Amino acid sequence: MELQTGKVIGFEALLRWQHPSQGLVLPATFIPVAEETGLIVPIGYWILRAACRQLCLWQRFSAKSLTISVNLSGRQFSQPDLIDQIDQILQETGLDASSLSLEITESMIMEDESATATLLQLRNLGVKVSIDDFGTGYSSLGRLHHFPIDVLKIDRSFVSGIGVSEGNLEIIQAIVTLAHQLGMDVITEGVETLEQLSELRKLECDYGQGYLFSRPLDSLAAEALIMSLSL
Ligand code: MN
Repeated sequence: MELQTGKVIGFEALLRWQHPSQGLVLPATFIPVAEETGLIVPIGYWILRAACRQLCLWQRFSAKSLTISVNLSGRQFSQPDLIDQIDQILQETGLDASSLSLEITESMIMEDESATATLLQLRNLGVKVSIDDFGTGYSSLGRLHHFPIDVLKIDRSFVSGIGVSEGNLEIIQAIVTLAHQLGMDVITEGVETLEQLSELRKLECDYGQGYLFSRPLDSLAAEALIMSLSL
């Protein structure tokens, strides 16, 4: 949600597994296994394809400006055919590249030798790139400004600490200033209370996501929300 206007600007695609006998399985259970086995790569492309296809459908009956954000795993990010795969998915689904945002973590770009080249190729493709959980990993500020990054997503721990422990507002303020000076937008994760929202607005954070706005929704419920907004 855009914090100053309250306008819904997009969604983040989150993975859940409806298991036939175990019921709902959360990613914390199956993602580590998928990472270990390498299955994360085909699963990742499947998610990307499904998310792009879904957004295309939604854009047809709602605002064209609606965006979708998809998390990339480290393994996926270092696949040599990453750019080709994304390009193919965009062409196949007909989604405009600027509607897609890919989320990566600090460690992924700091540890990958060819990260700059990959990020430049993504930018050439027209896709946006966000750094997820920013502030909790290892980031070299000396290198951060060399990377073509569009958005910093401030980790939820700083937001949940607002009004609870000292220093969180100051850290958020510093990240917002840093991001804006470097020409990046800021999304705050894990916004749950009106107090947090009001503080984040004062700090001029651009966007927010979290339970205050909506719990995770399945695609039908998300569709109902989009319809209610565009009526
Ligand atoms: Mn994310």
